[in-house]
Amino acid sequence: MSTMPIWIKDPLAILAEGAGRGLVVKDGRIVELVPAGAEPATAGAVAYDASGHVVIPGLINTHHHFYQTLTRALPAAMDRELFPWLKALYPIWAKLTPEALDAAVTVAMAELMLSGCTTTTDHHYVFPAGLDDAVGIEVEAAKRLGIRVLLTRGSMNLSERDGGLPPDSVVQDEDTILADSERVVAQFHQRGPDAMVQIALAPCSPFSVTGSLMQQTAALAEKLDVRLHTHLAETEDENRFCEAMFGCRPLDYLEKHGWLGPRTWLAHGIFFNADEMKRLGKAKTTISHCACSNQLLASGACPVCEMEDAGVGIGIGVDGSASNDGSNLMQELRAAFLMQRARYGVSRLSHKDALRWATKGSAACVGRPELGEIAVGNAADLALFKLDELRFSGASDPIAALVLCGAHRADRVMVGGRWTVIDGAIPGLDVAALIRRHSAAAERMRAG
Ligand SMILES: [Zn+2]
Repeated sequence: MSTMPIWIKDPLAILAEGAGRGLVVKDGRIVELVPAGAEPATAGAVAYDASGHVVIPGLINTHHHFYQTLTRALPAAMDRELFPWLKALYPIWAKLTPEALDAAVTVAMAELMLSGCTTTTDHHYVFPAGLDDAVGIEVEAAKRLGIRVLLTRGSMNLSERDGGLPPDSVVQDEDTILADSERVVAQFHQRGPDAMVQIALAPCSPFSVTGSLMQQTAALAEKLDVRLHTHLAETEDENRFCEAMFGCRPLDYLEKHGWLGPRTWLAHGIFFNADEMKRLGKAKTTISHCACSNQLLASGACPVCEMEDAGVGIGIGVDGSASNDGSNLMQELRAAFLMQRARYGVSRLSHKDALRWATKGSAACVGRPELGEIAVGNAADLALFKLDELRFSGASDPIAALVLCGAHRADRVMVGGRWTVIDGAIPGLDVAALIRRHSAAAERMRAG
């Protein structure tokens, strides 16, 4: 179906070269950049006045666990590092129901969208009895809200009984996981540059799955041509676990099971040494940097500059909302900027790097080169921010202001040429009702 072209006209500022007078969108794609002093060449373009907006590529979130919005700011899990934090939370997550997941997914996606996000991943790895169609629930929510997604069929099959971290109640066996992975890809995965729903395969971490499942999952991803995702090198605990359990470091473990390649993107990547970074760069494996989560759990800091020097692509992820505890991608990229600025100093990186990580960098993580940049032929995924809040008053450089003054709410968001956020709200979404439903579900899980 052909749609009327839209001219996003005369932006206050735009994160693109040669687009001083904006850009033209048609049939879900960017078809023209309009240079300063020019008029659009596209016939019949209807103007949208963007003179009060800063226009940037839609932000892309490369790591999350939507269901964790149900366990935010939970005293039982507070002030703990990763392993004890997980152990406190697994029994509560084991009580996840389809209704609770639907509320959680809707909350996480809405929060992301309102912060300027146009594409998000989700790493869903908890499948208690009765929640077999978790990915289907997520697909439905994404379609309802209009956000582009790369959902993962996550998994855990190494429980406490076999030396793993999670309890028996939240793990599945290898055959069930692999069969369902294949089903989910066949049912939901779309291909091509306009895909709105894609599926990746994502065993949770070395300490919650077997080597056999890692190996089989990599082979299946190869066969089905889908992406691979997992947590890696998040803590020193994980290094010790891998050395004790498998006799090698996490990256060796990954490589041994056929994961070191361009199909894989990894969450965290904090504890790689120089040689490992070189191997990652050579393999074109990418990293989702999750600054808030890493700070909250005191895990450490991803060495982003050494990574980029070694050719490793960096994207941004908010991580699960129990280790952040929000899903605001603009705030996340600001956190990444500040954290890394403190580490590397003022001359090594700027706000522009953080914006690049959350757009082009993240697009590489999700394997979608047609996203993350305002360029002709790319998807019309855009985030428009107004600078009319107190926090921006007196700002000079509008694009820098987004990061430095702490933008946290987009005024307009477009995905594939369709407005998904209008005047800072998601059309048709009753936020008050959603909060009531989600809070009640969270309370039921806490109460048991
Ligand atoms: Zn995570």
